[in-house]
Amino acid sequence: MARAALPGGLIVEPAAIRPGPWQQAEVVAIWPETARAKTLRLALSVPLPRLAGQHFVVRLSAPDGYRASRSYSVASPPGEDGLIELTIERLEDGEVSSFLHDEVVVGDLLEVRGPIGGHFVWRGDCRAVLIGGGSGIVPLMSMLRMARQGAMAGSVTLVVSVREPAELYYRDELAGPEVQIAYTRAAPPGTTRPVGRLRPEDLAGIELAGATCFVCGPAAFCDHASALLLHTGASAQQIRVERFGPSG
Ligand SMILES: Cc1cc2nc3c(=O)[nH]c(=O)nc-3n(C[C@H](O)[C@H](O)[C@H](O)COP(=O)(O)OP(=O)(O)OC[C@H]3O[C@@H](n4cnc5c(N)ncnc54)[C@H](O)[C@@H]3O)c2cc1C
Repeated sequence: MARAALPGGLIVEPAAIRPGPWQQAEVVAIWPETARAKTLRLALSVPLPRLAGQHFVVRLSAPDGYRASRSYSVASPPGEDGLIELTIERLEDGEVSSFLHDEVVVGDLLEVRGPIGGHFVWRGDCRAVLIGGGSGIVPLMSMLRMARQGAMAGSVTLVVSVREPAELYYRDELAGPEVQIAYTRAAPPGTTRPVGRLRPEDLAGIELAGATCFVCGPAAFCDHASALLLHTGASAQQIRVERFGPSG
């Protein structure tokens, strides 16, 4: 498969990448992002190239044969084919997310399959407008990190909508001229934007010409952000949406 070099020497595959087989991945590190979200770094037994925005499926199996699988986006940028970082929000009554939070420790093996997704991917070949709500920032972080590594940060704008500072993922890494944070319930002192969900003026200054817009988060957030983009002048063809709902 032909490869393309991006500014900064970053290499990505230009064509869609097909998911590999089910494989074992060792949990090599775990750290908290917020009180309710953890990142798991996994070392794949079968390293595979991937694109920013893709996800993996994690499958849990019980001794009685019961299985549960859920999709998780990759937060780390493409380039390290043998390592992936998944950031998982713990849902109170969530079967898989609570197991991954409460039971999994460094050294455990997880069964995973991926990378998956050919539509919600950014190859670094156009401007990207990234709009994420809550854990919807995860695949967008892969895109932002790829842009920063490849000296393409000027080609990306990330807008994150989050309830309050304590719920912001990747907070030590996010700050930059290409990142805007919209707090919906409580903002840090000194923030001039009034709290509240995204409004047209939050997107007004963003260059949309020639951009692909990636919207990710809960379904209601995705619908709202997509409507705002259309209102701001984006065409439907420019918008790609990934909804984080229940998955099988
Ligand atoms: C392509 C894709 C990528 C995803 N990437 C991520 C990611 O990077 N990080 C992440 O934390 N999650 C991600 N998700 C969501 C994830 O797949 C699971 O849906 C989530 O972890 C809940 O699974 P669970 O087994 O804990 O909850 P379940 O036991 O399946 O559900 C428990 C309860 O929560 C509700 N519920 C299920 N999923 C969600 C959700 N996402 N939000 C709100 N309520 C829900 C259910 O309806 C049910 O009432 C992604 C989903 C998709 C489709």
